[in-house]
Amino acid sequence: MVRSREAAAQRRAAMAAAAKASVVVVGGGVAGSLLAKTMQGHADVVLLDPKEYLEIPWAELRSMVEPSFAERSLIYHKDYLTDANIVMSSAVNITEDAVLTAHGQCLPYDYLVIATGHALTSPGSRDERIK
Ligand SMILES: Cc1cc2nc3c(=O)[nH]c(=O)nc-3n(C[C@H](O)[C@H](O)[C@H](O)COP(=O)(O)OP(=O)(O)OC[C@H]3O[C@@H](n4cnc5c(N)ncnc54)[C@H](O)[C@@H]3O)c2cc1C
Repeated sequence: MVRSREAAAQRRAAMAAAAKASVVVVGGGVAGSLLAKTMQGHADVVLLDPKEYLEIPWAELRSMVEPSFAERSLIYHKDYLTDANIVMSSAVNITEDAVLTAHGQCLPYDYLVIATGHALTSPGSRDERIK
C-alpha cells in the first residue's frame, strides 16, 4: 500500500516535470532576471540577453568612483540562474511560438516575456564593464 502510494507520487512528479511549460525571457535586466530566477524550477526557462551579466543600474554611479562596488553590482547570470538556460544573444524576430536570435537560434516558447527595458550600450563582458 505504502509502496503503491509512493509509486503514484513519483508518477505524478514525473508527469509534472514532463509538463513543464517553456518560458523564454527576452532581456536580462532587473525585470527579466528576477522573473527568470523566480520561474526557474517551475518551468523550462530560457533567458536571452546579449550580456553575460545582470547590472544593477542604480549602482552605476557609485561603481564609477568606487570600482569594488561594481564587483557586487555586476552579477553573472549563471550565478543565480542555476536551473535555467542562458542564451547570450539578441532577439531579432519573434513569431507566434518562437524567438529568433541574432546567432540564428530558434527558441520555442509556451510563454514569452519581453523585458528589454531601455537601450544601453554596455559591453557584453563583465570584465570590460568593470574597466
Ligand atoms: C544610472 C541609473 C540609475 C537608476 N536609478 C534608479 C533608482 O534609483 N530607482 C529605480 O527604481 N530605478 C532606477 N533606474 C531605472 C531602472 O534601472 C530601470 O527602470 C530598470 O533597470 C528597468 O529594468 P528592465 O529590466 O525593465 O530593463 P533594463 O534594466 O533596461 O534591462 C533590459 C535588458 O534587455 C536586454 N535587451 C535589450 N534588447 C534585447 C534584445 N533584442 N534581445 C535580448 N535582450 C535584450 C538588455 O541587454 C538588458 O539586459 C536607474 C537607471 C539608471 C541607468
